[in-house]
Amino acid sequence: MKASPEAQRKLLELADIDAELGRIAHRRRSLPEHAEITRLDGRDAELRDSIAAMTAQASDLGREQAKAEADVEQVRARIDRDRQRLDGGMIASPKELENLQSEIQSLARRQSDLEEIVLDVMERRETTSADLRTAAEERALVGSQLAAVTAARDATLAELDEQASGAEAKRARVADVIPGELAELYDKMRAQHGGVGAAALRQRGCQGCNLTLNTVDLNAIRAAAEDEVLRCEECRRILVRTPESGL
Ligand SMILES: [Zn+2]
Repeated sequence: MKASPEAQRKLLELADIDAELGRIAHRRRSLPEHAEITRLDGRDAELRDSIAAMTAQASDLGREQAKAEADVEQVRARIDRDRQRLDGGMIASPKELENLQSEIQSLARRQSDLEEIVLDVMERRETTSADLRTAAEERALVGSQLAAVTAARDATLAELDEQASGAEAKRARVADVIPGELAELYDKMRAQHGGVGAAALRQRGCQGCNLTLNTVDLNAIRAAAEDEVLRCEECRRILVRTPESGL
């Protein structure tokens, strides 16, 4: 392939711009905010699930407490009725009196056991409520951190977008003056070599792969016409001669 030395040197400008675009794209992908947002999103989901589970548990405990309190109330009412009968003096049979007294005693034990259950459920409800408050506070904190990190990420991305569109505009102007066939070869190399398709020959080395060329290759380059499009034998990028090539 042949192309004027000027057109070939333009490729180096294009390569510089493409390297810059590569750096911008890399920065865009490797922003620390990405990992932080993933972490915070994960924590938010964990908290959301645990809040839902605790809310369900709190509601179960509420029902459990209401039921235990109703049980206490029922036993208490029964004791009251028994006491009224006892105090009413209408029971003559000593056997019946004894039975009634023993029933009141056993009901009192039952009431005390049921009150223990109520207290236990109340304690569990309080613990659940406290855990719920803690989780809700943390979730609010995670939410505000998420908003701050997202805003920081978006601001950096907007800045990088601006840099990228500046570089793209510059690239379009440079690409405009490069002959079609040479531009095609460059683009092919660019796709194969991490975004940079041409490199300068500087101090007998390829600036693309940083290898020094051997004598045979250098002799071939010395013998080549100025408008011959050269390739690095190592990395296959388009190799552009410059005044610093050291030939
Ligand atoms: Zn090379």
